[in-house]
Amino acid sequence: MGLFDRIDEMRDAKRDEKFMRQALKQAEKAYKLKEVPIGCVIVQDDRVIARGYNRRNTDKSVLMHAELTAMKKACKKVKDWRLEDCTMYITLEPCQMCAGAIVQARIPRVVIGSMNPKAGCAGSVLNILQMEQFNHQCEVERGVLQEECSEILTNFFRELREEKKKTR
Ligand SMILES: [Zn+2]
Repeated sequence: MGLFDRIDEMRDAKRDEKFMRQALKQAEKAYKLKEVPIGCVIVQDDRVIARGYNRRNTDKSVLMHAELTAMKKACKKVKDWRLEDCTMYITLEPCQMCAGAIVQARIPRVVIGSMNPKAGCAGSVLNILQMEQFNHQCEVERGVLQEECSEILTNFFRELREEKKKTR
């Protein structure tokens, strides 16, 4: 790899980190609502066009995952159900529902913070984003700001356990 390729790659990595930080900000919003802190942003032409965070309990809806919320907003913005020139940034590996919707929307590139070995469907339990049998496969980047993305979850669940102990 030449010097300029390496510079390009560094620039792309920096860009991914920058947008992942914005997804983390969304996760913090969920944290404040005592929701599992998962955040998502969707980027088009180097600009964030939609944001979302987990609101499952707050809205009493199984559909209110960070990714679906952001996708709904992004579709409204681009006036299309396809999100073909967008990149999605998510702090945690998507579940089967969201991974399915990502493929349906034909999102070309998905950037993931931390993996979810027990429920993730971008390589952990399944890899719905990259199945040859479907008509669309995503390019997937894993482990961007992994420490920060898993730390916010670890803190959340630790706090939850401590609170439960207090009320016992
Ligand atoms: Zn989901």
